[in-house]
Amino acid sequence: MARVVILNCKKIRDILCVSCMKCYKAMQERVGEFERYKDEPIDIVAMGDCGDCPGLVMPKLVLISDIGKAIGRDFDVVHLGTCIVKAGMTAKCPINPEELAKKIKDKMGKEVIIGTHPW
Ligand code: SF4
Ligand code: SF4
Repeated sequence: MARVVILNCKKIRDILCVSCMKCYKAMQERVGEFERYKDEPIDIVAMGDCGDCPGLVMPKLVLISDIGKAIGRDFDVVHLGTCIVKAGMTAKCPINPEELAKKIKDKMGKEVIIGTHPW
């Protein structure tokens, strides 16, 4: 069982990328960065945004972690949404996905995957 948190771009989520339908489809079909879970169930513990520009991701993740532990819903892996990756290429997003992934791994000990759906 993969216990997953997905983080997305607050500017894109539910506006350009409506209601996160692409990521839900990719999870259902195990494509893109969800292919790695093709032989196991996925438990989406949380899906939340980056905290808005300039990306208040760490405090948000700490909060998710605290609440998760308090309600018995901890997680193992964080996916940085394809929206965050694209925001860096097209919208001058200040988040550097590689740096953020390293920070999350170092400070929280969680696995981090850069990307989600393949479209
Ligand atoms: S890439 Fe995924 S997480 Fe990001 S807004 Fe689109 S569907 Fe949601
Ligand atoms: S910091 Fe990046 S991912 Fe977050 S809202 Fe701004 S552009 Fe989107």
